[in-house]
Amino acid sequence: MHVGRCSPQAVQAPCPWARSRPRAATRIGGATHAHNGASQASEMARVQQNFNSAGVGLFFSLFGGSQSLALPHLAVPDIRHVDWEKLRAAGFRGLVFDKDNTLSQPFALEVEPRLRGALDRCLAAFEGRAVLYSNSAGLLQYDPEGAEARQLEAALGIPVLRHADKKPGGGSAELEAHFGCPASDLIMVGDRYLTDVAFGNRHGMLTVHVQPLTSRGEPLGVLLARRVEEFWVARWTAAGVHPPAHARAPYASLQGFIREPTTATAATTTPPTTATATTAAPPATAAAATKP
Ligand SMILES: [Mg+2]
Repeated sequence: MHVGRCSPQAVQAPCPWARSRPRAATRIGGATHAHNGASQASEMARVQQNFNSAGVGLFFSLFGGSQSLALPHLAVPDIRHVDWEKLRAAGFRGLVFDKDNTLSQPFALEVEPRLRGALDRCLAAFEGRAVLYSNSAGLLQYDPEGAEARQLEAALGIPVLRHADKKPGGGSAELEAHFGCPASDLIMVGDRYLTDVAFGNRHGMLTVHVQPLTSRGEPLGVLLARRVEEFWVARWTAAGVHPPAHARAPYASLQGFIREPTTATAATTTPPTTATATTAAPPATAAAATKP
């Protein structure tokens, strides 16, 4: 297994991509944005998500030998395919969700309807111990007043963590303070390898990659970045690179955390065709679950 230059367990990883953007408050704060609403925050995120300097920095660092940081422990179509009760029984204590294209359509302020039941079961399994950690809502740079975060909390029933840095940059201190446990007891769930998965792996979390719900409404930069990262993740996986080892979920156990949705659910919930449907992205089952 490749070993990254930065420890996945580091709380404040001294990685070159960490905190590579100016703080939001100093960048866009001030009177001009004092009355931003949720819709303005979303629009700003839509435009500015075309560029994520932390993600770009990570991408180039991966060629130095830390490819494992971009690879998830579990790769599934969506959250219905994960045995959340089993993960809870394995000792994991909290869930960290990306929002856009993981639980909701990009920039939408509601849970994707076909995932609502699975999300409720997931939250029940973890006694509601979950947060949204988004690169739009709750990110000080785009949502300085927390307007979108509050709307999401009301709509999804999940707290939105306020944070200063875009994934994969930033530390895990805010998450550890929120959950009262080390980041290695948390599970990161998201649709992007170089943001969600890399962020989770950097901090020693178990990482779950889901296929994006749709390509509609995504910024062009995100669409292009997704293609690039899917290409390289497929290549690295084929070359035998594995995600970082996790003490609570050894490689041999990973397949056991994946399950097929119930028949009644699956009958109405076939994932739509997305921009990644024809890529070489890992299949629905735990592509990374093979012991190295
Ligand atoms: Mg996303």
